[in-house]
Amino acid sequence: MNNQVIGADNAGLRPEDLAGLRENLHEQRLFRKDQLQQIAAPSQTRAQRMRGRQAASQMEVHVKLAASARMVLSDVEAALQRMDQGRYGRCHLCAQPIALARLKIVPQARYCGRCHHVREAGR
Ligand SMILES: [Zn+2]
Repeated sequence: MNNQVIGADNAGLRPEDLAGLRENLHEQRLFRKDQLQQIAAPSQTRAQRMRGRQAASQMEVHVKLAASARMVLSDVEAALQRMDQGRYGRCHLCAQPIALARLKIVPQARYCGRCHHVREAGR
């Protein structure tokens, strides 16, 4: 049986590597969801005790944390979706396979190391 679509091979990653990366992504997703829950429900009494500038800057930190957690969460979910569709592990810019070493650190990466740096530098 061969129902694999050409070009939908998760960049030729081995099943055992994919399994590890998937696990990693699931952990990230749990972690970020926890984080978002904690940010969304700050302790009321503590918030009430803090007034003025301190409370405002605390709020700002929360908003920034929540924004970045949400961003990572959506990246992680997109990566899991790509994995299911067999499109995981390829750079969105140059279509080259992303190095496994990089995926192990950033399993939700959309770009290979080179394109990532080019994008960062172009900002
Ligand atoms: Zn690339």
